[in-house]
Amino acid sequence: MFVRPLISSSFACRWTSHMRFMSLGTLSLGALLLLPLCCPADVQADESSERVVTVSPEASDVHFSGMLFDGHNDLPWMIRDIGNSSLDVLDISRSQPKLHTDIERLRKGGVKAQFWSVYVPAETDATGDALLQTLSQISIVRQMMTRYPETFELAATSRDIERIVASGKIASMMGVEGGHCIQGELRNLSRLYDEGCRYMTLTHSKSLDWADAATDQARASGLSEFGRAVILEMNRLGMLIDLSHVSPETMRQALALSRAPIIFSHSSALAINNHPRNVPDEILAQTAKNGGVVMVNFFSSFVVPTEQLRKNAKATGTIHDVVDHIEHMMRIAGEDHVGIGSDFDGVPRLPSQLEDVSTYPRITQELMTRGYNRSQIHKLLGGNIMRVLKKAEEVAVMMGEEEKRR
Ligand SMILES: [Zn+2]
Repeated sequence: MFVRPLISSSFACRWTSHMRFMSLGTLSLGALLLLPLCCPADVQADESSERVVTVSPEASDVHFSGMLFDGHNDLPWMIRDIGNSSLDVLDISRSQPKLHTDIERLRKGGVKAQFWSVYVPAETDATGDALLQTLSQISIVRQMMTRYPETFELAATSRDIERIVASGKIASMMGVEGGHCIQGELRNLSRLYDEGCRYMTLTHSKSLDWADAATDQARASGLSEFGRAVILEMNRLGMLIDLSHVSPETMRQALALSRAPIIFSHSSALAINNHPRNVPDEILAQTAKNGGVVMVNFFSSFVVPTEQLRKNAKATGTIHDVVDHIEHMMRIAGEDHVGIGSDFDGVPRLPSQLEDVSTYPRITQELMTRGYNRSQIHKLLGGNIMRVLKKAEEVAVMMGEEEKRR
């Protein structure tokens, strides 16, 4: 989930459906007159002359024989935000053009497994109901499972995922976005684990007193003592530590401390676009040593190269930019440490040719065009995140045995 920066927190602090579907009528005449000045011809040419990716039968075979496991999708928030938390209002078995996600497009995109984000705003830290609101997001995911049992099934373990995928359904796991949800108590972490959450992003957009966000002032100098206890408790539970959204110092400390491989559920490469939400090369290398995985985010503001953004801050970028991020991350971290974490339904702008969940096969095609083989692509699509999940489960078992011996 992306929260629009530079808007005062008393204002609607996240991008909403209303902004997304804002009509031209809400733009002033002055803004309309200025539009051509904001879109230099060379940038328009960059995007209008982009190479169209057409998925070949061979690429389709590679894609659909792999196991696409996306790290981050905010559909549950959209169901709450524009669907009144009801699948009667937003029935995803029908076409939902206002969303990036519905069942037909998930199938077309070859999604086999998905981490559904149970995001709630960082402001709930102040109102004291972050856990309660997260539980209500969890109930939306559970509603999805019971309403569409032929399509989705909740997975608690990596073995569940394999079984569910083999049965032809979309294996579903939940990820908590932001440590504010545990309200400063470790027992709330195990509560969320028991409810089915299998990763927690340490922060969202705001720093906590125990972990720092990439987009806020530091409050914990990386991780406080409680922050370190959270990391080890997550290792003990077998819950993945997600370092998207956190500051580089928090990343460094968590990577050094965690006994299990970590993930970045939805982050791209800083070397290509110098945005604080992206991952520095030094951390990509540290992630490889840790055995973890960085799952590339598709959001235009993270993906479009910095020099192109200088010309046009509103550039949406293209699928080719996203694949550039993937290639860069593979070069620095290695092909065993990169995955896909689209952030669909959590962001206001997406690159062309990657507009919704039906478009993933184009990534496979573009990687094949660039010379990547079946095995490399399968690792990117889901093999790497599955390896990380299994390893985290093993670490939890090992820590349980250590505890017994004590
Ligand atoms: Zn996010």
